[in-house]
Amino acid sequence: MFLDPLQSRSLLANALANRYAILAINADSHAAVTDCLEAARQCDAPVIIETSLWQLDGHAYGGGDAIFGLTRYLAELAVLAASERYRDVPVMFHTDHIKGPRTVAILSAALRGVRMPLTGEAGVLRASTVSLDASTLTDEENVALLCQLADIAKAAGAPATFEMESEVDAGHTPIERTKKLIGAVEARHPGVVWMWAPGLGTQHGLASDGYPEFRVDLIGENIAAIKALTGRDVGLALHGSSGLDEANLAAASRAGVVKVNWSSESLLLRSRAAMDYYQTKRDTLADPKHNAWKSTAMDNGVQSHVAAHYVPRVVARMKILGGAGRGLAFLKTLSP
Ligand SMILES: [Zn+2]
Repeated sequence: MFLDPLQSRSLLANALANRYAILAINADSHAAVTDCLEAARQCDAPVIIETSLWQLDGHAYGGGDAIFGLTRYLAELAVLAASERYRDVPVMFHTDHIKGPRTVAILSAALRGVRMPLTGEAGVLRASTVSLDASTLTDEENVALLCQLADIAKAAGAPATFEMESEVDAGHTPIERTKKLIGAVEARHPGVVWMWAPGLGTQHGLASDGYPEFRVDLIGENIAAIKALTGRDVGLALHGSSGLDEANLAAASRAGVVKVNWSSESLLLRSRAAMDYYQTKRDTLADPKHNAWKSTAMDNGVQSHVAAHYVPRVVARMKILGGAGRGLAFLKTLSP
């Protein structure tokens, strides 16, 4: 089931109350999206599919036009999530790391919703949750941009559920900055921020040292500070989880991380499996007269090989985060 922005708040609150985290995978192809939903189905976990600008622009979706990519992404996820196979999987779509001059245009489309070209008036789909890349912004710019987006959503009569971030690659965000940033948005747009992504000591990319600077104790401190400011239970989003060990991932989920972003390690798993496929099948592919040439050369060949290696690893990660067995139970809490 594809979750709208208000249903997504319920899922995030459910994760925080039950102390599990939802795996948020940067998926950059149709095959990757299918594999992630399949993993979620196999272990009955909710899942977040997220896209950065490079995926919206990328070959599988936008082909250089990020808003077209957004439309195509939303259409695919809506169809998949409504299918008999995946309708019991809670699926959120999140915009992750959008930056640069097209930020407002792309995120406005994500918030207002895009009209599906083939379904007429009724077919408006919008992102479940939205964030922007604040890495090049000052605190003031970060607050102003989020408030601008909240204004745009409000003017369109669209509910907006945001993740706000600060310094996710820069060590440990001081609690005073948490209060300053969340407080500033809350003063102008109460009730729109439902995830907070501070620096917790990890970084984007693949860690080789397991992040000795990672601090689980900051999670509860941030949640308490936001609760005091807003009255809401707002969970944390963890960026840069590739290379963080299983014990820390599990501890972070129990402490109040509700969304764990996963990109680099996911890409490594998929690309290595594809490399393995092409190396193993090299002789068959080199001989178009081979009776298995066509089935080997089809995209289905490599995609099925990648899925067989990748899906079990996604399931394992969902289990580490405590998300397994939570999907259907959450959907039953939603009012019909
Ligand atoms: Zn990130």
